[in-house]
Amino acid sequence: MPLGVHTSIKDGLAGALKEAMRLGCQCVQFFSHNPRSWRMKRALKEDMEKFETMRKGVALEPVVIHASYLINMASPDDGLYEKSIGLLCREIEVAQRLDAHYLVLHPGSCGRKGHKNGIKRAVEAIKRARKRAGMEVEILMENTAGSGTQLGASLEDIASILEESYNYNTGFCFDTAHGFSAGYSMKNTKEVEALSTLMENAGLAERLELVHLNDSKADCGSLVDRHEHIGAGTIGTDGLKAVVNAPLFRDKPLILETPKKRGLKDDIMNLDRVKEMIQR
Ligand SMILES: [Zn+2]
Ligand SMILES: [Zn+2]
Repeated sequence: MPLGVHTSIKDGLAGALKEAMRLGCQCVQFFSHNPRSWRMKRALKEDMEKFETMRKGVALEPVVIHASYLINMASPDDGLYEKSIGLLCREIEVAQRLDAHYLVLHPGSCGRKGHKNGIKRAVEAIKRARKRAGMEVEILMENTAGSGTQLGASLEDIASILEESYNYNTGFCFDTAHGFSAGYSMKNTKEVEALSTLMENAGLAERLELVHLNDSKADCGSLVDRHEHIGAGTIGTDGLKAVVNAPLFRDKPLILETPKKRGLKDDIMNLDRVKEMIQR
């Protein structure tokens, strides 16, 4: 399985690739711009050209872009909804321009109007963005921890969105920390087998393209989204080891989104821990 981390774009888009290579990654994920800003300053022509040149000399696959946190495709507020579709279109365009394999997206929060309405709006948003921005890059819906009125904490939410957008080049990104916080325990092989069965039954096994491998600071079912170093959290070494060796997950690309207080040192530590877990 290709193993990689979410890298920084502080030195531009090419910098994200450079950092991944320095860490010895086989795949990479990064934001194409500041994920908490509506403006896409980062996506400048020169920056993209540097990225393209750098990309030719590196063997990273898949290249994954994580979309902005501001996009809320399930928002009941028409203003925010339209703004979100606009930014999603830009994300798709940039991802395609950079020839990324996947664009990871959270389903959004439905507010007081409820899940059903939120799912309907999210699906509509994907369809509209696809018509405007193209179909090339595969959009991966990521499961969430489920705080507030967030959609996507349940496998059923994700399955509904993916089913309804089947013809719009969509797939599934499973985040272990989010899944655990949302109530899917995975502390040992037995629990990971049960989770795999749930995914198969929901039709998600065949749509699974990517795993965000994170330990969690929060308890199972807490609905709190806080990532922890591999093996140091509430999922723990046994659980994450069971995930990376399970038939459903073992061939999928793994991206770490673990804490980086000590910068690259933390990434190296976490990558080493995962490598130790993988049974050949
Ligand atoms: Zn995410
Ligand atoms: Zn994630």
